[in-house]
Amino acid sequence: MLHADSGGRLSYIAENTKIGLDCSGDVNFVSHAHMDHAPSSSKAGLLCSDETAELLAARSRVRHNGHSQEMTLGEVDLSLADSGHVLGSRQVIINGGADKFVYTGDLRTEDSILFKGAKPVECDTLLIESTYGLPRFSFPKREATYSDITSWVKQEVASGNCVVLGGYALGKAQELVKILNERMGITPIVSDEIGDVCAVYKRHGIHLDYVTTSSDEGTKALMRNFVAVLSQNKVNSKMASALSREYGKKISTAVATGWAQSPSWGFDVDRAFCLSDHCDFAGLVDYVAATGARKVYVNHGSSREFARDLKKKGVNALAVDDMRPAKGQKTLLG
Ligand SMILES: [Zn+2]
Repeated sequence: MLHADSGGRLSYIAENTKIGLDCSGDVNFVSHAHMDHAPSSSKAGLLCSDETAELLAARSRVRHNGHSQEMTLGEVDLSLADSGHVLGSRQVIINGGADKFVYTGDLRTEDSILFKGAKPVECDTLLIESTYGLPRFSFPKREATYSDITSWVKQEVASGNCVVLGGYALGKAQELVKILNERMGITPIVSDEIGDVCAVYKRHGIHLDYVTTSSDEGTKALMRNFVAVLSQNKVNSKMASALSREYGKKISTAVATGWAQSPSWGFDVDRAFCLSDHCDFAGLVDYVAATGARKVYVNHGSSREFARDLKKKGVNALAVDDMRPAKGQKTLLG
């Protein structure tokens, strides 16, 4: 049984146990280690992948009482399935026999240079994210974006410029490092924050070549014409001007994000490449159909619009925003 509280936090109640879905509960399911999904601390045990537990420790030192990758509560089994979003990201499957419930967390079904995409999990009830749940979000093929990035970096390097690429510190940054390594033979400089995440990727078998800004190699690399990967929120014209003054070189900047396709997002950089760790609209619709779910809840981003479009396709869908309790009510059952 799905519960929403007045703050929009979602949990699933099974065997009198509250399973927090990327929020606190008697059991805390953490779909992945992006900070908007991770608890700051947790007295309850975590249900998450080994990789997510390691990334949480590396990134935020979240205190918790251990984690497990599967669990049984009476007659109900809890298990995990890949969600294709970042290293360690998982969907949770709560199977009580009469109702098999799946929560996707952030979801990507397209393969990347680092990972295979998520495979649909058949279920009765589905809770799916809808970050890019509007029909206008139709992402280019990943390989086409990889080619655009490499062509642009080659052109800037050939012009004698340094290049700074921006992406989320967990996920996109590692993908950018891999593109530079494999497609261009470049070992980029990365921030220490990104380096900490790259180290976890490496421990889990994903080879990445990079140097960190604080290392001796990083200091030397900064003296030459360099290519760097930094957190997206740090990459802008002010940063480029500061680096240009310090190193006496022209700095070319770009970001890689799905929001590059949104006209309302202005990026203060030379180029914005459309590269997302989420499904686009068609990917979400296909995923919902493939699960065969009889009831679909939609959360995040354009949830009302996506639920409305699903209904037009004959799906029994409801936006979580429409199931929040009214004032005075504490929770709402779905
Ligand atoms: Zn995420």
